[in-house]
Amino acid sequence: MENKYRLIIAYNTAQMLLVDKVLRTAGIQTELVPAPPETGTVCAIAVKIDLSELENSSETLKQNDIKVKDIIEEKKLKLQGLIDEKLGRAVTAEFINILRKIENGDGLNKDEIVYLLSTQKPREIEAIYTAADRIRKEMVGDVVEIRGAIEFSNYCCKSCNYCGINAKNHGASRYRMNEDEIMEVVHDLYKVGIKTVILQSGEDAQWTTERLIELIKRIKRETGMRVTLSVGEKRREEYEALREAGGNNFLLKIETTNRELFKEIHPDDDYDHRIQCSKWLKELGYINGSGNIIGLPGQTVEDIAVDILYFKEMGINMIGIGPFIPAKGTKYENHPHGGIEETLRAVAVTRIVCKKVYIPSTTALASLDKDAQVMALQCGANTIMLISTPEEYRRSYRIYDNKNMVDMEAAVYAVTKAGRKMPEYIKIMKKEERRMKNDE
Ligand code: SF4
Repeated sequence: MENKYRLIIAYNTAQMLLVDKVLRTAGIQTELVPAPPETGTVCAIAVKIDLSELENSSETLKQNDIKVKDIIEEKKLKLQGLIDEKLGRAVTAEFINILRKIENGDGLNKDEIVYLLSTQKPREIEAIYTAADRIRKEMVGDVVEIRGAIEFSNYCCKSCNYCGINAKNHGASRYRMNEDEIMEVVHDLYKVGIKTVILQSGEDAQWTTERLIELIKRIKRETGMRVTLSVGEKRREEYEALREAGGNNFLLKIETTNRELFKEIHPDDDYDHRIQCSKWLKELGYINGSGNIIGLPGQTVEDIAVDILYFKEMGINMIGIGPFIPAKGTKYENHPHGGIEETLRAVAVTRIVCKKVYIPSTTALASLDKDAQVMALQCGANTIMLISTPEEYRRSYRIYDNKNMVDMEAAVYAVTKAGRKMPEYIKIMKKEERRMKNDE
């Protein structure tokens, strides 16, 4: 059966945004979605339209003198062989139906996602991880993306109840790096071949948008690296100015899509405004990052299923999924941490549902168990973030307690043990990889 959607592939992000705007202005319904692997990098975006709007869209683009790279049929990812006789009676008929939908590349509904997140049957869990790993391989390949994160300030004006550096935690020891200190680390990352630097901080009024703009421009001028920003909520004009300065990616996690729970954990924030910020980021052409926390107080499996559908519907490109870990001096300091198994399951199901996205094997997982990062790479994750904050500050960036300082050695360990590949662009790793292999 012919697919009822078409994907418009633009030559670059600016053109893709223009196409989207022009079509929407003409009353054509569009959706920005990850482009298929054969058309570009993991973060490439396409404009999705209904087949019935194809003629109208082509005419509108022509009238506006816009020539696009291609318009293709949206193909489903078909997987063979997920269902075999080995599954036998160890799985339910309902599970087989869900697997069949995954094999056909069909979308899953909330109840089906809840089933995948909740099952305790070992054969079913194994099949979920296998499906996620195969989709990861098909959509983003075997190479694990390595990025360097600089946590440049832990001052924050907000009071998120789960966060160890929230404004009300007077036990937190505060620091703020200056531009030169940050640039020193940026150059270290550049020297080892890392292509993307993540600039992360609390919502710190001293690090104004103007200062961030100067910093981004300097990074671009001196290294040409891609810049991911993780600096919280801002006005649209500020996001726009940061984008114009060279910001490529923006990470603004929703943490939970349950409104009440969102309010409970973010007393200073408004749920609708957070979603609005995420929409602005997408409209401005950022590679848009979000994510959630698994094991928040009062969170249900249904909540996590809705989070995953939200990532899909919003066309989120990077999805960070980490277990809740309590932080001293916060409201939830005595709440138990989220489970590794529950987090891995959320990673796997997110890969199955969202397909061509970046999913980090998070530092929070590594903080519960070094091998949890390996396991995440084996069930859908494809990115590792190195904690590159200077030694004298990194212990103070304590969003949660007992944070594991994932460095290059830890990344090589996880990638090698998971049977995956380090990127070619990492220069010093070849030697370390060989050493690890020799030690085995
Ligand atoms: S989660 Fe972010 S915004 Fe909230 S208190 Fe922590 S650093 Fe600030």
